[in-house]
Amino acid sequence: MRVVRVVRIERTVLQQMLAEARSAPEVECCGLLAGRAELISVLLPAREGPRSASAYEISPLELFALFRHMRDAGLEHLGIYHSHPHGDNSPSTRDVELAYYPAAAYFIVSPQVDAARLVRAFAIADGRSEELTIDVVDA
Ligand SMILES: [Zn+2]
Repeated sequence: MRVVRVVRIERTVLQQMLAEARSAPEVECCGLLAGRAELISVLLPAREGPRSASAYEISPLELFALFRHMRDAGLEHLGIYHSHPHGDNSPSTRDVELAYYPAAAYFIVSPQVDAARLVRAFAIADGRSEELTIDVVDA
């Protein structure tokens, strides 16, 4: 299995992720991250899943549509993002249990403006998470 320790993402995508989290700061937002050649350049927000302050979910139908969109656009699935409205933006027990993509980078965003770190990224596999270094690329 490939282990990613640095994840590369375009600055505009990071900004979109923060804007998504802040647009509904009381609930978790989520979506997929895609790109080419190991560089995340596209944010694909999920719109249909149930929303709460402590859980996120992408419906199977929407997930299918997002993966089809990526394939049609020649994009690779490189990551998943969601927000943690309250508390720390490190993976919850549930996040670790429900991490089905060991090669993906899991971004966790805080909508709180005073968060120590607004965005963190993790590799999650085999019930463990490892923090990744985020390499922000100016497109
Ligand atoms: Zn979470």
